[in-house]
Amino acid sequence: MSPLLTTLILLAAGAFFAWTMIRRLVPLIALRRVDRLDRPGERIEGLLRFGFGQRRMVDPEELRPGVMHVVIFAAFLVLALRTVTLFGMGFAAGFHLPLLAPESPFGRGYAFLKDVMVLAALAASVGFLWRRLVTKPDRVTLSWEGTLILGFIAGLMVTDMMFDGAGMIASAEPLSWWAPAGSLAAALYGALALSPGAVHVFGLAGFWLHLLIIVTFGNFLPYGKHFHIITALPNVYLRALPPGAAALRKLDLESESGTFGAQSVKDLSWKEGLDTYSCTECGRCQTHCPTYVTGKPLSHKEVNRAVKHHLIAKAPELTALARAADPAAREAAAAALPPITEVVPPATFWACTTCGWCETACPVFIENIPRLIDMRRQKVLVDADFPEEAARVFKNIETQGNPWGIGSNRRAEWCEDLAIPRASDGGDYEYLFFVGCAGAFDDRQKKVSRAIVQILRQAQVSFAILGEEETCNGEAARRLGNEYLYQQQAAANVEKLNGYGVKKVLVQCPHCLNTIKNELPQFDGRYEVVHHTELIAQLVAEGRLTPGRAEAIGSQPVTFHDPCYLARHNGVYDAPRQALESVGITVQEMPRNRRQGFCCGAGGGRMWLEEKLGTRVNQNRVDEAAATLGDSGGVVAVGCPFCMTMLRDGVNETGREEKLQVLDVAEIVAAGLVQLGSPATHEV
Ligand code: SF4
Ligand code: SF4
Repeated sequence: MSPLLTTLILLAAGAFFAWTMIRRLVPLIALRRVDRLDRPGERIEGLLRFGFGQRRMVDPEELRPGVMHVVIFAAFLVLALRTVTLFGMGFAAGFHLPLLAPESPFGRGYAFLKDVMVLAALAASVGFLWRRLVTKPDRVTLSWEGTLILGFIAGLMVTDMMFDGAGMIASAEPLSWWAPAGSLAAALYGALALSPGAVHVFGLAGFWLHLLIIVTFGNFLPYGKHFHIITALPNVYLRALPPGAAALRKLDLESESGTFGAQSVKDLSWKEGLDTYSCTECGRCQTHCPTYVTGKPLSHKEVNRAVKHHLIAKAPELTALARAADPAAREAAAAALPPITEVVPPATFWACTTCGWCETACPVFIENIPRLIDMRRQKVLVDADFPEEAARVFKNIETQGNPWGIGSNRRAEWCEDLAIPRASDGGDYEYLFFVGCAGAFDDRQKKVSRAIVQILRQAQVSFAILGEEETCNGEAARRLGNEYLYQQQAAANVEKLNGYGVKKVLVQCPHCLNTIKNELPQFDGRYEVVHHTELIAQLVAEGRLTPGRAEAIGSQPVTFHDPCYLARHNGVYDAPRQALESVGITVQEMPRNRRQGFCCGAGGGRMWLEEKLGTRVNQNRVDEAAATLGDSGGVVAVGCPFCMTMLRDGVNETGREEKLQVLDVAEIVAAGLVQLGSPATHEV
């Protein structure tokens, strides 16, 4: 071996790598600051589970590529010791790490494990090459870079075998249980009847090629999508912890900076920059993305790619910004950056339904929703350039406290005949029933509100409502970018709820649930918040509610559509199904269910915007429900007013009114109560 050559390789590779990394990382310093070093225990646990444990890779939907990726990842971990050993051998032929002497039990054990991983990684890289060159799945970005990287990986494994096989022949021990890969290479040398000299040359070539591939591979990584090999583990450690995207950051509206969202790339956080470096371009985020699937110009993967290329292209400007010593220099450097809309067009960030699929699917925890909302915030709060439908919604919430603009004095009309106590009455009650705008003003959803009241009374749950004192939670305004209006609404609701000393809040809308539970703490509003399907499941489990079979449903098959803000954003999957089981219904699952549930198209304020591009999201979902329920149709159960509207529209738009019925879980359970002779405030 050659100490001089090894030193030269290490110095040249190390210097080039350091130069590249500085150029990649310094621009991140100019981006918005965000603290990602809190809650170290949770971060380490996640790093072990999702980083080293590759939990999101092994998805039953995509088992084979996931397992192949895990194999290659594990091989890299195991081979890290081998790499150090090989560089050490470049300085001294007999070098080995402590405890790993070749003849020792640990040394033999490690050699066996290393060889098994070499063979497994070789097979996995051939499998990936097959996928990339032959089967070509839709979600994978096909590029020469991916093929080159797989060539590097396979090359590392082959050269390792070449080196070991030659060593085994030289040691007159060509077959050993502890070196299956080396034995294979030695057997191949034997089969080819190579002379000892030729075997020696192959061994040397294997050694030096291996080292050269390692340093070339390592230096190539920051220049392409395989940068994730370096950044993915830090990115998982620095991920947004719950509630994550379920709670958007609170803007400081008093700030004198004049920046209230993302005007240019500098307004993204450094973590959002690191995210883009970490994208593997695997495309998992696209498979159930409602915008991608229905042909809108938005995919998480493509946004990452665009922002990453922009960050790299604008590295000089961002570096100047990071170095700017005074406000004037900072302003001048910031002005050199183009608006973010030149990187991510408005049609892209307005398309998102904030359904959360992409973030849930991403194996390296790349965030998407907060940065898209920040782009909307800039358009709404600074540029005053947003869809006119959104303008109407803002005005209606501002003037009447609901998106429809119906008189706020009519908020309690839905329950005029039900004699429901008000919080202002001052009596004792367990739950404050936050009815929500749809539950109070939408004729279809009013029936759900009444069904919930019937259930609460049957189970003798004490509750009260705010009545005319309730106002819109502002969720749609916040996700449409109007943080100013949202903060007004949030403050008004917190003032009321805190004023009445509310501890527990019952909601029928997952958007109310998410806002009150995850976002009102930003305004000192802290409550125990429960969705009506959760409460029904709990009441049934406690024996306080014993509905009979919902005869009105009869023998119709029933499927359940998971609302994004109940399921993915808040982890409630079982309760609605348990509630349906309580009335004798066995849910027929749609192919995209639970975590993989497909959005109805209404989230992120999209409920209020026209859907002009691609095909309709709600129709896509209704098609799936219809196929699941079969030719004679059945019931699509929901647990969200927005899903109710979107799916009913989808049923009507596709001419399935005769076959498909959209009902809330509460209505179905209440129908079971009617069978038991409970006071009928609601009928299906
Ligand atoms: S954002 Fe995540 S899921 Fe999507 S392509 Fe990148 S790594 Fe894969
Ligand atoms: S949040 Fe949903 S709609 Fe938005 S990009 Fe992600 S998957 Fe698509």
